[in-house]
This record gives sequence, structure tokens and C-alpha cells, in this order.
Amino acid sequence: MRWWGWGEDGHDAPLSQGALAMLGERIGPLAGVRRDPVALADVLLPDPALPAAARERLVSAVGAEHVRGDRLARVTHAAGRGYHDLVRLRAGALDAAPDAVVYPADADEVAAVLRACAEADVAVVPFGGGTSVVGGVEPLRGAREAVVALDLARLDRLLAVDPISLTATVQAGVTGPALEAALGEHGMTLGHFPQSFEYATVGGWVATRSAGQASTGYGRIDALVVALRVVAPSGEMATRAVPASAAGPSLRELLVGSEGALGVIVEATLRLRPRPTVRRYEAFSFPGYAAGADAFRALVQDGVAPDVARLSDPVETQVSFALSGGPVLATRALTGYLRARGHGDGCLAIVGWEGTSEGVVRRRRATGARMLRAHGAVALGTPVGQAWEHGRFHAPYLRDELLAHGVMVETLETATTWDRLLALHEAVAAALDGALRARGTPPVVMSHVSHVYRAGASLYFTFVARQQEGAELEQWHAAKAAASDAILAAGGTITHHHAVGRDHAPWLPGEVGALGIELLRAAKATLDPAGVMNPGKLIDPAGFDPARPAGS
Ligand SMILES: Cc1cc2nc3c(=O)[nH]c(=O)nc-3n(C[C@H](O)[C@H](O)[C@H](O)COP(=O)(O)OP(=O)(O)OC[C@H]3O[C@@H](n4cnc5c(N)ncnc54)[C@H](O)[C@@H]3O)c2cc1C
Repeated sequence: MRWWGWGEDGHDAPLSQGALAMLGERIGPLAGVRRDPVALADVLLPDPALPAAARERLVSAVGAEHVRGDRLARVTHAAGRGYHDLVRLRAGALDAAPDAVVYPADADEVAAVLRACAEADVAVVPFGGGTSVVGGVEPLRGAREAVVALDLARLDRLLAVDPISLTATVQAGVTGPALEAALGEHGMTLGHFPQSFEYATVGGWVATRSAGQASTGYGRIDALVVALRVVAPSGEMATRAVPASAAGPSLRELLVGSEGALGVIVEATLRLRPRPTVRRYEAFSFPGYAAGADAFRALVQDGVAPDVARLSDPVETQVSFALSGGPVLATRALTGYLRARGHGDGCLAIVGWEGTSEGVVRRRRATGARMLRAHGAVALGTPVGQAWEHGRFHAPYLRDELLAHGVMVETLETATTWDRLLALHEAVAAALDGALRARGTPPVVMSHVSHVYRAGASLYFTFVARQQEGAELEQWHAAKAAASDAILAAGGTITHHHAVGRDHAPWLPGEVGALGIELLRAAKATLDPAGVMNPGKLIDPAGFDPARPAGS
């Protein structure tokens, strides 16, 4: 991945003049000149602070060629891929970077690195794909002398596939495409497709409780984990690969979502499905958000939810229609047709059914579509659904381009029960709007229901505003804090799938309570008594302040 953004060099997503004009109309005039990233050589980096003795121990653990301290390695491990990361990377203003990047080859080398770091008082940040959007891989050292990034890229093998139990055991550093390619050879899939699929890793997914775009059907990653192998400074833990167990509280669940603060996930045994051969992705329009939400609730509560279930609010629907710009959506005929049906302020739903049997997929789809129509939906057909499927990994490339035009674009997510969903939606949208208007940068705030459950659903917000030049991080912080406060006040979770990281840590006590935090700290004290694992994240709210140097 290029060091300042998303994707490989050359994979760009230029915005059309029409899209830029529409954006300018909604959020105010955009910067006339492009704001491109500084050159790598101009990125300001603190001097490396790894004591020589600690470096020697790391070298003896993994070999000299696997302990890197060069500029590229340090910069590419200095930040995740959230908006605030990209702002700092593009400006070349990193106030922290790992003092070294260490690449172990296997679980034994991970254990040796952790031992060395615990003894030498060096913080360790486990690093998968580095796609965290919540400051999860921020190289904070806390009270430690130095900090290293522990990159799991060399733990990249599919270890075993069990076609009888439909499971696979895989090393933590495997990325999405590599995993799906390897499982494809066995006719299997994990079915886990987060938007960061191209770069994120199995270990990162498990450590953050990730959700994929088809998680309504396949289950989130936490539902797909059968067993884990974790190396902590205190030793190794492996949970047993059994389908279910009543052997006390689930230690597997303690390790899923542990965000590198308890130890390093080195292997995961995951549930598989046969690779689908039949896919039907299509779109519907609802007259309003409430009608769409009712329809989605009915689907899931009646046990006929599609594998992909997304319901855009009216703003996101309008922006999707406008941005598509092509023959599929933005035709006058379609808009006129929807208006005539009372869908002038309608909501776009994307639903996808997939499986290995044409007949089963057809029946599931027919039942689902009937139910959606009964809730006022109008079918928009498969081309719209296929267009969504085709472009579903495109947004992060677009984000880089928006940043070049001086546009802030950020996302956040939450979930709550159905009875509170619409109120939560309104509260978060109002909080973001209020916080950004107060800074003179009125935003466009849009949202969609991204996953549905019998008890509720998740909401995924995207907000776009003119950047406040020179105060980009303070602007972001104001919006993020307002939204996070609103989420907790309205009964949502501080995160449905992005994890806690650095950014959400101050809100975790509000969600799990002081005793809950104590319990997590006790687990950390057992597994990581020296406190070297990923300081400033999850249960340590030290880092959420853009005015404060990230390395402190
Ligand atoms: C453009 C974009 C789109 C995204 N879309 C989605 C989405 O659709 N769904 C979703 O859930 N998330 C999404 N994310 C967030 C992010 O991709 C996920 O959190 C992902 O699971 C992180 O995986 P990673 O391998 O990149 O982990 P990293 O970013 O490297 O690490 C994330 C956290 O996990 C820890 N960690 C990583 N590997 C290990 C390990 N082996 N053992 C212990 N701890 C570890 C790190 O220390 C850090 O705290 C998106 C991010 C971006 C930038």
C-alpha cells in the first residue's frame, strides 16, 4: 500500500467535474489547488530511540534482516488508515513512529520478541494490514523506553483445511485476497469481506471484531472464529477447537477483540462455507427510512435475511444517485418513476442472496422480495445491485482524491436495538452536523444500515465537509467527540466493528462500566504484566487528543 493513502501507486479514483460541483454546492467552495502529499523524504520523523541492547535481542530473535529501522518501514508503520492518519501522513507531520519494525516468522519468534521487549521495557504494537481507522496501530510507547511495530506479514500460511468440519486453520498475517485464493482451491470461502479486504489480515479482523459486507449472512468474524492461538508476554494460550462449550466463561471471546493489548494472535481456526456459485445482488427503493428499517427487521426476524443487507438514508441515497452519474441510476426516467411512486425522498436498499443452489437462492430471494414489497419497496433490479457489488472496494480510493481537494471525509459506526435505531440515527447525524457547522464547515452527513440482527442493526455514517485548513485534526476531533457522546447517550455501542483502539478508548468506560474496565485490566495484568502490549489503546484512554504528541 502506498505510504500516504490507500492502494498501489497508479490506482487512482479521479472525481468528475460534476461530482466536484455537486460537492461544492453542498459543503461550500472547495480548495482551488490540489493538496498532494509531501515527498517521503520530507516526512518529519523523531529519531529512533531503540536502545542498542534491545535491538540486539530483537536481532537474535528474528535475524538482522527482519529488524528494520529505515524511513519507509517506520513511516508505513506509524499510522493506520483513518482520516486523521491520512491527514498526518499527507502533511508529513508524524509526531511518533516505531523505533523499529520487527518481522517474526512464526509463533516461536513472536514469543521471543515479546520476551525481549518485556525485559527491555519496549512497547509492542501488533501490526496486521495497518488498516485500523481508530488509532489501533498508533506507535504509542506509554511509559516505555521505546516502541516497535510487530508486523505479522511473514505469518501468511493457510495451515489446514478440514472439509468435514468446514474449518480452516490459518496464520494471522494472511490478507483477505490471499486467504480467499487459498480457500478457493478447496472450493471454500470464509465469506468475510470488509471494505478493507484487500489489505487487512485475519489477525487484524479477529483482534478488532471486524464485520464484512456480507456479515448479515455469513456472520461477523467473531461468529466465524472456532479457536485461537495467542502468544502473550506471559506465555501461550490456545483455545480448543470445538463447536461450542460450557466450560466456563469463554476465553476465546476474551481474546477476540483484544486489539493487541493482551497478546498476539498467531493462528485462528475459522468456520468456512462452500464457495457460492449463485449470486443475486439487487436494489430496492423504499418511500422512507422508517419503512425500509421495518422491512429489514421483518426479514431478519422471520429468518429470511439476505446475506448482504444495506439500507441508505435519504441523503446517502441522493448522493449515491448523483455520484453514480452513469446510465444505471442517475437517469431522469428512474428519478421520475420513483417520484411518481412517492419515493421522491426515498431510500436505496441493496440486498444480496448467495449460495450453491440455484433453487435455494431463488426461493430465499423470492420470499425476501415479497416481504420487501409488502413494506412498500419498489424493485430497481439487478444492474444497480451488481454496480454496488462491482464498486464495493472503491470508496477508500475516492477518499484519497477528496483529501487532495481539501475535503474531510470520515466514517464511524454503531449499533443498537431496533426500537432505538431511528432515534440513534437522528442523534448522531445532528451531533455531527452541529459540531461541524459550529466550526463554519457545514457537512453532508449520510448513513446506512449495514448489518441486521434479530435484535437490532448497525448504522454506518459517512460525513464530508470542507477541511479547516491548519486545524484539520481539531475539526475532526470535535466531530468525532460529538458523535461519540451522542452514540452513548442514545443507547448505541461506541463501535460495531471498527474496534476501540485509541480513538474510542475514552468512551469505553461509559459502555462497559468501571468494573468492566477493571476486569479487562486484570486480564491484561495476567497476560502482559510489564504492560508492553499496545499501550494507549482499548483500556488505556491516554491517546485521544490531537493536540498532544502521539508518542507521549
Ligand atoms: C478503507 C477502510 C475500510 C474499512 N472497512 C471495514 C469494514 O468493512 N469492516 C470492518 O470491520 N472494518 C473495516 N475497516 C477497519 C479495519 O480494516 C479493520 O479493523 C481490520 O480488521 C483491521 O485489520 P488489519 O489487519 O489491518 O489490522 P491492523 O490495522 O494492523 O490492526 C488493528 C488492531 O488489531 C491489532 N492487531 C492486528 N493484528 C493482530 C494480531 N495478529 N494479534 C493481536 N492484535 C493484532 C493491532 O494492534 C490494532 O490494535 C476499514 C478500514 C479502512 C481503512
